[in-house]
Amino acid sequence: MSADTNLMPIPGQVDPVPVARAPQPMADGRINLVGLPKEVLRTVLIEAGMAEKQAKLRAKQIWHWIYNRGATDFEAMTDIAKAQKPWLEERFTIRRPDVVEAQVSTDGTRKWLLRTHDGHDYEMVFIPDADRGTLCVSSQVGCTLNCRFCHTGTMRLVRNLEPNEIVGQVMLARDALGEWPSRPEGRMLTNIVMMGMGEPLYNFDNVSQALHIVMDGDGLGLSKRRITLSTSGVVPMMGRCGDEIGVNLAVSLHAVTKEIRDEIVPINKKYGIEELLQACADYPGANNARRITFEYVMLKDKNDTDEDARELVRLLKHYKLPAKVNLIPFNPWDGAPYECSTPERVKRFSDIVFEAGISAPVRTPRGRDIDAACGQLKTAAEKKSRAQIDREAAAGQA
Ligand code: SAH
Ligand code: SF4
Repeated sequence: MSADTNLMPIPGQVDPVPVARAPQPMADGRINLVGLPKEVLRTVLIEAGMAEKQAKLRAKQIWHWIYNRGATDFEAMTDIAKAQKPWLEERFTIRRPDVVEAQVSTDGTRKWLLRTHDGHDYEMVFIPDADRGTLCVSSQVGCTLNCRFCHTGTMRLVRNLEPNEIVGQVMLARDALGEWPSRPEGRMLTNIVMMGMGEPLYNFDNVSQALHIVMDGDGLGLSKRRITLSTSGVVPMMGRCGDEIGVNLAVSLHAVTKEIRDEIVPINKKYGIEELLQACADYPGANNARRITFEYVMLKDKNDTDEDARELVRLLKHYKLPAKVNLIPFNPWDGAPYECSTPERVKRFSDIVFEAGISAPVRTPRGRDIDAACGQLKTAAEKKSRAQIDREAAAGQA
């Protein structure tokens, strides 16, 4: 499997990978229509030889069938002439990622192991609550970053997920929940968080393209207010995320001093806390009605003192951030170098932040029994050796 890392040129360790390119045919020569923007869907029909005027209408119909009705083949498309279907089937497909395994936690959380058309595994998680249902979506197979408390961070980056593999997660969840056709009310899947495997802002173009389909009123129809993208702090891409995607932002802060954040979220060596918080202050669309979420994983004797809590409050106030803090009890995994803070410590930390006027709920761990909780996602793809991770960290590239 060592060739996996050569699938896509990755300039440097952490720089965003440019991915804008024409739709690639699959191994059988057909083009997957899932994940293509509307205009591109029309263009591929024209390029395959369909007359322009007809392509305009067909593209509209096919789009509706794929995203509103959840069609998985052309056969289902009753308003498309029977005679045209073989032509479409020969050239195009409507393909979702393959489901390798589906698991259900005792608390109702569901996790799916998915496989890309070229054989890479990744995961998605659905978390049902009384008033909402949240799908936790992956953006990459693996991750270039090595946050020390994160299981995904022990994998190397295998490759970025393509738009169809990102939108496909939402479609598979809709399949499993029986939520076709798309309807505005009464859904189980109400929210999306880009908090699965990978760093979404290092796969910006694909994530953006996918989320535009998810947000399209004529597509999957989820409002941008119900979508949250979590970043470990890729500062140069945050402005574009607000301007071009416009979803809610969550930031994996996790520490308030350079020393500790450098250690646990190594991208901090490249984009430090001040720069990160300034980018948050500048985030387009953030205001008191639409706050930025600061994620803070509670690690015993690492980042969980009263002083840390007070410094967190000072920083958020200094940058006048419309903020809420999400305290995440550390979810353990085999070989993890940390332990979770005690419940009393977490409570005390939360109280200090809360008493300063900033909401600081403690996130209830979900799906721990099936390794579906935050930071537990990891597929069998190659693991980095600890020595390699340390070497990279020492070289300041992580
Ligand atoms: N790469 C993005 C999004 C994916 S991780 C990011 O880092 O923000 C989603 C959240 O889970 C992040 O805040 C991440 O720091 C947190 N997380 C990772 N490992 C964890 C663990 N073992 N326990 C609790 N939270 C964890
Ligand atoms: Fe990557 Fe996020 Fe895990 Fe860090 S926390 S290693 S950025 S997935």
